Amino acid sequence: MKLKISESHVARWREDLHKAGRREIGGVLFGEQIAEGEFRLIEATRQRFGGGGAVRFHRRGRPAKKQIEALHAAHGHRPERFNYLGEWHSHPNAPAIPSARDEATMHQLLADQAGAVNFLVLVIVRLSKESVLELSAATYLASGHRLPCRIVIDALSADPPSFDSSEHEL
Ligand SMILES: [Zn+2]
Repeated sequence: MKLKISESHVARWREDLHKAGRREIGGVLFGEQIAEGEFRLIEATRQRFGGGGAVRFHRRGRPAKKQIEALHAAHGHRPERFNYLGEWHSHPNAPAIPSARDEATMHQLLADQAGAVNFLVLVIVRLSKESVLELSAATYLASGHRLPCRIVIDALSADPPSFDSSEHEL
């Protein structure tokens, strides 16, 4: 699986992580399917997570659900093309790889979706001492498997194209 992320999203993450310091931040990922197994990040929502600098994945279900609903509405309720892709959060105090708890959370989220989605992506971000954004991504399948997710930083899709729906249907 491949996930395209624009440079503007990367820049925003760097800025937010810089501001958050040692606090963990995160939110939901909303994307567009552009080809078989290929997605483009449209929105990475921001939620402030409580709990100081703890290395924990505090996902807040209710605001996340509202944000996902708002994004569906903004994209014309076309889940076959525009959909909830997964989750992201920062690891200010740990390497940018999923913890055992993160993995358990992703499997729980898939179970909560009750078959509405068959995979979810987890992106973990971290700002290095040199202020370089470190990113990792993995795809969790409803079957319980985990697949690598390749991230492609894409300068060209920095601004979402304004589309006319009939022309660009998959
Ligand atoms: Zn984590």
